[in-house]
Amino acid sequence: MGTRSRPCNDGALPTSVRYEGCIDNNSREVQGSDLYYFRQLEQKYRLFSHLTPGYGLDMGCIAVKGMFSVTQFGDVLPCPYMHVSLGNIFSEPLQDIVQRGLGYKYFGERMETCVIAQDRNFFKKILENKIYDKPLPVACADVFTDEDKTKIPFNTVMKSL
Ligand code: SF4
Repeated sequence: MGTRSRPCNDGALPTSVRYEGCIDNNSREVQGSDLYYFRQLEQKYRLFSHLTPGYGLDMGCIAVKGMFSVTQFGDVLPCPYMHVSLGNIFSEPLQDIVQRGLGYKYFGERMETCVIAQDRNFFKKILENKIYDKPLPVACADVFTDEDKTKIPFNTVMKSL
């Protein structure tokens, strides 16, 4: 299943725009100013998204450290817009899969913003080169390398709080 041929959806939320087939249209990129505007709307209308600090937590991107998605086939994805399998619950314990995910810097370290919507380097290096046009989800071993591993494991940070 590829995603490039899917049409752009003007009504989509900013975080999903880039992944819905707009890769070749830079004007569709989510900018810092877009997210700032989104934050203003949150405050003005008391809206809540998964990036809204709440319950005493301000985690930034919550992929893996705050939530993950599981497909009907058992693949665990870091977030619903990132079609990378961290492992499969039918073949190994979920705890091991989550730990594997937290071992990557994008998920084990604090990310201030949405990496798939705003981080151009992540977009080019990971999504464009390793995921697009591949059968989905792509195994994390085929997407991430040692370069992508965290030097600050999430559990270390939690224990120090
Ligand atoms: S990458 Fe993080 S911030 Fe972006 S949609 Fe996924 S969970 Fe949300």
